[in-house]
Amino acid sequence: MERVLIVGNGYAGLAAARTLASKQGVSVTMVSAEPCPAYVPHLLPELAAGKKSEADLFLLDQADYAGLRVSLRPGAEVKKLSAKNRIALLSNGETMEFDKALIATGASPWIPGELKEVEQLCANVITMKRIADAKTLKGFIEKGATRVAIIGAGRVGMLLAEALKSSGVSVSVIEIGARILATMLEEDVAEKLHPILAERRHLRIHTGTKIAGVECEGAIAREIRLSDGNTIPCHVVVIATGVTPNTVFMENGPADGEGVAVDNRMETADRGIYAAGDVVRFETVTGRREVGQLAQNARVQGDIAAMNIAGENALCPPSFIGNVVKIDPLIAARIGDIDGSDRADFRIGRSFARATVEGRTVIGIQFVGDPEDLRGLAPAVLKKFTREDLSDLFQGRLDIGLAPLLAARSHSWA
Ligand SMILES: Cc1cc2nc3c(=O)[nH]c(=O)nc-3n(C[C@H](O)[C@H](O)[C@H](O)COP(=O)(O)OP(=O)(O)OC[C@H]3O[C@@H](n4cnc5c(N)ncnc54)[C@H](O)[C@@H]3O)c2cc1C
Repeated sequence: MERVLIVGNGYAGLAAARTLASKQGVSVTMVSAEPCPAYVPHLLPELAAGKKSEADLFLLDQADYAGLRVSLRPGAEVKKLSAKNRIALLSNGETMEFDKALIATGASPWIPGELKEVEQLCANVITMKRIADAKTLKGFIEKGATRVAIIGAGRVGMLLAEALKSSGVSVSVIEIGARILATMLEEDVAEKLHPILAERRHLRIHTGTKIAGVECEGAIAREIRLSDGNTIPCHVVVIATGVTPNTVFMENGPADGEGVAVDNRMETADRGIYAAGDVVRFETVTGRREVGQLAQNARVQGDIAAMNIAGENALCPPSFIGNVVKIDPLIAARIGDIDGSDRADFRIGRSFARATVEGRTVIGIQFVGDPEDLRGLAPAVLKKFTREDLSDLFQGRLDIGLAPLLAARSHSWA
């Protein structure tokens, strides 16, 4: 029996465990820093807002792992992993030897330098990455917190602000950049969300401003001072300023923020050590090296890694960087790259799409509109459509045998 260690119990780790369940000759142990079964992270804001229960988020029950022939070590973190010596040290002091391993540890919140101290000191300064974070915010709101300050107007910050509407809390979003969703949408595209956001009575967005200081009483943050002179009283502060790949435990791992380098079989330079999901740096369909951030990529990469661990030769299909944020009734999305040599704007019904074009090829799409109109746009990037293909697609003239693919893949990455 070959001993396989899966580090991490998110989408990538679970996909690998499911694939390995049908393979012979492997015994699989999964070590997970969190004490619960795998869950759906994009519902964390809804859990925090009291709109979903914890059970709604779980992808399976603890007991289901035995059905996958996985020995699960919940609540144990890998503190050190030596690829050379094939040994891992766990937070409970146990050591674990293995023959092959999958690193599927996702990413951790990235905290700006000026906020590190308050994040460590203050119990009401939190992040929104794990189920425990969402439960903490829920607990504060249940105990009467009515003012939530969110630092960062990216995907997580805006999803949380949206989830908290009609929860009885007022939300201030503070963004250092000039606009919301800055890594997803160009300024004039993001502006298309403004009329809807202006209707959100619980929400105030402060863009183009820095945090000048956080006033604390003991270990409780009370007020945020902004560089533009405004002050924001707060009961809870949520830092949502991005993530960084979770690699600190790896002996000779990549530099901070780099992500684990893998080939298209999801194998690292250390033969027999694989990596998948948000922890990796991978090559996108447009040839860029990017770190992960998409659930669908994590699932596919975990599956491919598992097949190769089992001795097959599976290659990862092309993937892209993307993001989706629902601001009801609209959806904002980024698929692929937003910087290129040219661009083309399209109207699809009531929706707007901007294609980023390099030469004749569509390498990215920004979208704001009806969720239904997003159908088919991800394959347009994956299939390297031309600007004309895209135009034909939007006008219903495209007949290149993609219809089943477009239908099947719609929203699968959201
Ligand atoms: C609020 C929010 C909204 C999101 N919305 C979307 C969306 O709309 N669409 C989308 O595609 N993606 C979304 N994402 C991103 C998506 O959740 C990730 O891309 C996906 O979860 C990555 O899966 P993963 O398996 O690589 O990592 P994760 O799901 O992060 O799982 C990693 C696991 O490894 C564990 N772990 C970490 N370090 C160790 C260690 N040393 N030892 C043991 N275990 C460890 C962690 O506790 C965790 O359980 C969202 C994320 C968040 C937080």
